[in-house]
Amino acid sequence: MKTHVKALVVGGGAVGTSIAYHLARAGWDDVMLLERDELTSGSTWHAAGLLPYFNMSFATTHIHDHSIKFYKTLEEETGLNAGFAVVGNLRMAQSDARMDEYMLYATTAETCGVPFEWLTPAQIKERWPLVRTDDLKGAIYHPTDGYINPADVTMAMAKGARQRGVMIERKWQVDSYTWTGAHWDVGITKMVEKGGNLVPSEETSVIHAEHVVTATGNHAQRTARLLGIKIPAIPVEHQFIVTEPDPALLDYRKTHDQHPVLRDADAKWYVREERGGWILGPYERGAPARFEYGVPDSFRADLFPLDLERIEEEYMSMIHRIPSSETVGLKDDFNGPICYTPDGNPLVGPAPGLRNMWLAEGFSFGITAAGGTGHYLAQMMTEGEAEIDMASLDPKRFGSWQTTEYAARKNEEAYDHVYVLHHPDEERPACRPLRTVPAYERQKARGAQFGHVNGWERPNYFGPLDAPDSFDHDARSFRRGGWWQYAVDEAKAVREGAGLIDASAFTKHIVKGPGATAFLDWFTCNKLPKVGRINLTYALTDKGTTRTEYTIVRLTEDEYYLVSAGAWTDYDADFLRKAAQDKAADFGYIEIQNVTTQYGVFAIAGPKSRDVLNAVIKDADPATALSNKRFPWLSMRDIELGMCPVRAIRVAYTGELGWELHHPIEMQAYLFDLLEKAGAGHGMKLVGARAQNWLRQEKSYRAFGNELGRDATPLEADLPRFVDLSKDFNGKAAMQATGIRSTCITVLIDGPTDADPWGREALYAQDGSRVGRLTSGGYSVAFGKSIGMGYVKPQHAAVGTVLKVRMLNKLWDATVTEDSPYDPQNATIRKDG
Ligand SMILES: Cc1cc2nc3c(=O)[nH]c(=O)nc-3n(C[C@H](O)[C@H](O)[C@H](O)COP(=O)(O)OP(=O)(O)OC[C@H]3O[C@@H](n4cnc5c(N)ncnc54)[C@H](O)[C@@H]3O)c2cc1C
Repeated sequence: MKTHVKALVVGGGAVGTSIAYHLARAGWDDVMLLERDELTSGSTWHAAGLLPYFNMSFATTHIHDHSIKFYKTLEEETGLNAGFAVVGNLRMAQSDARMDEYMLYATTAETCGVPFEWLTPAQIKERWPLVRTDDLKGAIYHPTDGYINPADVTMAMAKGARQRGVMIERKWQVDSYTWTGAHWDVGITKMVEKGGNLVPSEETSVIHAEHVVTATGNHAQRTARLLGIKIPAIPVEHQFIVTEPDPALLDYRKTHDQHPVLRDADAKWYVREERGGWILGPYERGAPARFEYGVPDSFRADLFPLDLERIEEEYMSMIHRIPSSETVGLKDDFNGPICYTPDGNPLVGPAPGLRNMWLAEGFSFGITAAGGTGHYLAQMMTEGEAEIDMASLDPKRFGSWQTTEYAARKNEEAYDHVYVLHHPDEERPACRPLRTVPAYERQKARGAQFGHVNGWERPNYFGPLDAPDSFDHDARSFRRGGWWQYAVDEAKAVREGAGLIDASAFTKHIVKGPGATAFLDWFTCNKLPKVGRINLTYALTDKGTTRTEYTIVRLTEDEYYLVSAGAWTDYDADFLRKAAQDKAADFGYIEIQNVTTQYGVFAIAGPKSRDVLNAVIKDADPATALSNKRFPWLSMRDIELGMCPVRAIRVAYTGELGWELHHPIEMQAYLFDLLEKAGAGHGMKLVGARAQNWLRQEKSYRAFGNELGRDATPLEADLPRFVDLSKDFNGKAAMQATGIRSTCITVLIDGPTDADPWGREALYAQDGSRVGRLTSGGYSVAFGKSIGMGYVKPQHAAVGTVLKVRMLNKLWDATVTEDSPYDPQNATIRKDG
């Protein structure tokens, strides 16, 4: 066996095999795959093989789309038939809300070019008479969707990989990983059969690999232990049952093609044909997590016993939907481990803290995702970045604060939520509250309805004081939910008076030391601020796209305070640390401190915000302490509010006069009381994240993860004022070479009276051609209509262009505005007083 390779892939399931194949296809000719048992012996062998397109995420839809297209080419390449049945996929709706969900999904699907049709209950009945339709509202149908044989598609990928030079070695288990500074020494052991178990033999070896990819499926917890990191991928039990042949189906099939895969989301199941009978795959309540601390040696290609009682409701509802299935008996059952993560998406990308170590773990739709994952991960590894933004799948989106218990309970919840209504304003309840700021109970007592950001509880909006526990759940909608008016009132308060926003979740880093200035000058694309001043700036990828947005405060000549998005703390910290380590030899010693949990942040904003602060500021001359002269816009000062020392930064993400008040977290409750009391005289309102999100769109402020990401450069985000082309910085040449593929715009929408966009909708030119997509959406209190931000081809970005946006399955006018339609001159932000 070869012992020196460019890339070692660990795990021979669908995912690992696809990655090995795609690395070879991308041009790496020294790739090895190790599998501790047989290929497909993990979850892959017992998957039902469905390839559902449906997904609310732009990145994941691209991944699924790529898989489906790729699988269709495999037979020609390898001569192996993977049993790809393109039978279509019929997603039925029992309620109007479910139809709303499909309409939102459909406009997202359009942004990726995924084909679909709408069907009425009568049309369903006409095509598939075995389906009961009298209680349906309609359905969305994907003609190109279908199912495949999971083992066969894996074997076809393995054959394709071998043909491209990949070495596939079975019965070798990876037992250790050691980073030498230049490559990984991977300790492996030959596995042998003993009494039905697979056990380690005495035969060992070491593989030297420049890059390692782990795709270890249900063994992710062992992989995490070997690597000394956290991987919140823990399997949950998942069952499907196979019935005997259904005479009615056999009869129907004499004159018809195969049934499409049926999905009755409201009943929580999928059904497909299998040799004249049916496969029922339920996503029932109460499926337990398994193997929290690792897979026992005795568990190989095994299954758990069927728990029919747990899926009785779904079974009965299949009989309701397909009445002919009532009389057919059960032929077979499968109850296997299916890997999940706390948000249900896999973990794909660089491992936290490690070099050249890539994770591809936590796949719950791994057959569907394998092809696309291989393609995009290989792009990341061989070219530096994928063509789509993979941040939503990045392993570091989950913080290091997470525990096994958290991951297990959240993963059970993610399984349980596969078929719930995927409201964009959904907040999932498991494991909460967990990370709370000292003002949490006070906010709660004032009606806060909290969202969950990287584990933090953050107010989304302030609802009624006497709200029942179910208030937020019942307020959710694909249209304007029961919370909408609260957010409107909060947004108005900021525009007209003053609002106090809890922004404590922000990621905060101190960067200091003799190398700090030169490093940050190279690391970010804008000029560095002078001492006491701040700048908005971007760290770029090697491809010139946006990796992180920072507000940089220069505290001293060699010390900086960096503030970035709260949802991305570990993602940002890892990138910053690795870059600083790489550059220390060039620039000198650079110290990085993650101080996220040391500081709370309140953002106070609105024309009366200065008055509120003036009432509590302690200063030799309080009347002028916050004036433009002593505290200009885009500057920082250490001030004292009552007894609380505050690092105040004069910026406001809402685009009003305002300050961010960074304070010692342990003094937060005191500061909250102080500001609340002072604000009472000025009508100050507590304001949540939803209103803030709307307000920032009126100012065209780009949000990280929406307008800013690894698929667009800051120039494409139309932010040339924050890019200093007179200096050299990481990614500059690539950014310039990329040009402007599409450009960021803000639109005001003459839309429906009961709905706003969510930032996933497709945009069209007047002639009906698709020209881009929204990345943010909401309601503008300043303009009294819906607002959105997004990307279009440059020729459609001129101010005044009237585009069309698809919402609720209709096209609505969306007019491109100037950047910052509200207060374009920044007069209110700069107001003196
Ligand atoms: C009942 C059921 C039905 C399903 N139906 C579908 C479906 O219809 N569609 C769909 O898309 N998905 C489905 N899934 C999910 C799907 O099975 C998984 O998402 C997919 O198989 C994951 O593939 P993988 O390659 O990540 O993991 P696995 O297939 O589990 O492969 C991981 C491999 O890594 C090996 N390994 C682990 N540790 C080591 C080590 N240290 N050294 C060497 N090798 C190692 C293991 O032996 C294993 O072979 C279903 C799952 C279940 C349980």
